[in-house]
Amino acid sequence: MGYGYTGRILNVDLTRGTTCVEEVPAEVYEAYLAGTGLASFILHDRIPPGADPFGEENILAFVSGLLTGTGALFSGRWMAAGKSPLTGGWGDANCGGILSPAIKRNGYDGIFFSGKSEGPVYLYVKDGRPEIRDASHLWGRDTVETEETLIAETGGTATVAAVGPAGERLSLIAGISHEKGRLAARSGLGAVMGAKRLKALVLDGKRRIDVFDRAEIRDLSRRCNRWVRLQPPFLPAAPAALIGTLMRVLPFQMAMDGMVYKILLRKWGTGSMNQISVEMGDAPVKNWKGTNRDWGLGRSYSVNPDAVARFERMKYHCYSCPLGCGGICVDAGPYGRMHKPEYETVIALGALCMNDDLGAIMHMNEMLNRAGMDTISAGGTIAFAMECFENGILTRSDLDGLELKWGDSGAMIALVEKMIRREGIGDVLADGSRAAAEKIGRGAEALAMHAGGQELPMHDGRNDPGFNVHYSVEATPGRHTIGAQLYYEMFRLWTEVEGLPRPPLFYMKGRKYLPDEEKALAAAACSRFMNVANGAGLCLFGLFLGVDRIPVFSWLNAATGWRLEAGEYMEIGRRIQDRKQAFNIRQGIDPLSFRVPDRAAGRPPQTAGANRGRGMDIVAWMRDYWRVSGWDEARGTPGRGGSGR
Ligand code: SF4
Repeated sequence: MGYGYTGRILNVDLTRGTTCVEEVPAEVYEAYLAGTGLASFILHDRIPPGADPFGEENILAFVSGLLTGTGALFSGRWMAAGKSPLTGGWGDANCGGILSPAIKRNGYDGIFFSGKSEGPVYLYVKDGRPEIRDASHLWGRDTVETEETLIAETGGTATVAAVGPAGERLSLIAGISHEKGRLAARSGLGAVMGAKRLKALVLDGKRRIDVFDRAEIRDLSRRCNRWVRLQPPFLPAAPAALIGTLMRVLPFQMAMDGMVYKILLRKWGTGSMNQISVEMGDAPVKNWKGTNRDWGLGRSYSVNPDAVARFERMKYHCYSCPLGCGGICVDAGPYGRMHKPEYETVIALGALCMNDDLGAIMHMNEMLNRAGMDTISAGGTIAFAMECFENGILTRSDLDGLELKWGDSGAMIALVEKMIRREGIGDVLADGSRAAAEKIGRGAEALAMHAGGQELPMHDGRNDPGFNVHYSVEATPGRHTIGAQLYYEMFRLWTEVEGLPRPPLFYMKGRKYLPDEEKALAAAACSRFMNVANGAGLCLFGLFLGVDRIPVFSWLNAATGWRLEAGEYMEIGRRIQDRKQAFNIRQGIDPLSFRVPDRAAGRPPQTAGANRGRGMDIVAWMRDYWRVSGWDEARGTPGRGGSGR
């Protein structure tokens, strides 16, 4: 065991019903950290090429971050990883809550499931001792019921991650639920859990994490927290929405300081962007063919941050988070208590489908959370089906009698119900837009807005081309939590890492759309930095403070006793990025196939609205990224022998 990490993982073979503790050498942590870095090291070699994502050979990992439990702030993220049934390549999904410390308090940095159980089971780990238990009584139950039942039947102090009916029914857009509605949503890993007949992971441990210099960590955290607490006393929603309008109409842009976003997040959570993003052209509208003109302030007002906040009864904080962007809401509907809908959910089930019914959005959010289905992918798939209906590709009879018109919230709720149950058209749509388009045919493929099978998130790369780059080049395509030009500005990496470009404070907007070496370096730096963050278990929103305010590298040194420079940590991030890309190559993925669809790249450009006239040659941007990453510029394969070592 070292400092900061436990040095052990738990392997669970669900076919044989056995468990086995494995010691992990210190050098692995020094090379890959923990979290998804550790998972990439282990899974690259152990999941064979061509493995069936639903077969015994696929391994599903639950990993904790290296900084979790050390006293570092924002360090409570846990991650699931494995081969994605949605993309066919590397899959991972990230979630907050309290599971990350629970893994380490049992003496493990990760729990790795291989094989498949014959009947439904859950894994119970109490103070490090694992036990595979029957879960027949839970199969078919939703995620909230499952969590409540398991906590009650294991003594009341455990922490749970579970799949709902979507994962059990192998929906390719199923996620893994935790804390009654926080989802490790992306990559379809809930379906891998369902295929393994693993209903839940239940953890109850008390072990303390050893760290090298606890006083130093405490001091660093205290200083970081001063920035988190800086907050204006009064902040109304209406003028905040107009910030987006201003950002749209000005011909120039100012490099964004993440303190501004932190202030909005602390007040309203991610929903603070519900109107701003549409106004500035960041939020996609009407399956990515609409614009802010179709969804002006008058319509987006229905989901303004204060409208959502009216339902909020208390703030929700993940483990070790001083910010608390989440919220627990209560509404008059059948569910009562629920998590506050995130920005991604509000746009995916709102503007993307032209739906301004906040009550329906909250209701669908809870339906999907209880089923364990990704709200981004569900919204993207419904928008796709709506456009198919508009174009006559899907008829009323194909849709089991539903008139799936833009904005019809009643039809959307009925469709969500069908997708969860895999009934009729719901069976076709439950696997996301790419799989549905392949089944439907008749030109539907052109309307499916995905990268490599993963529905695009709610940030428009025609506004910030950096999003399109990361949607297209990451081993987990269609991911909005890794990089963008905006993120690079907020991360402020140039303040700590030698040789990285500093963006100008003010610049004309046209500069954003010209690919060049600086932008490619910035994008690669975002990927590397987020690999470090996901190895450490840090929350993206904390990182927006900027590395001169959130001491990521100093925390890691204080936790482990290492004496690494920022640049050396970025090199670890590079190694993890290589490893995940090498995993995809080994699984037969062509990296070019992950590029965003033409519509999202502005080919042809929109003729009206915030992103009018904007387009990009996405392949050229991808090749720039591959080149500065040291990868084959034409094929996107990592150098250094392609193994990512
Ligand atoms: S900022 Fe939000 S998502 Fe991040 S750790 Fe805090 S509560 Fe969780």
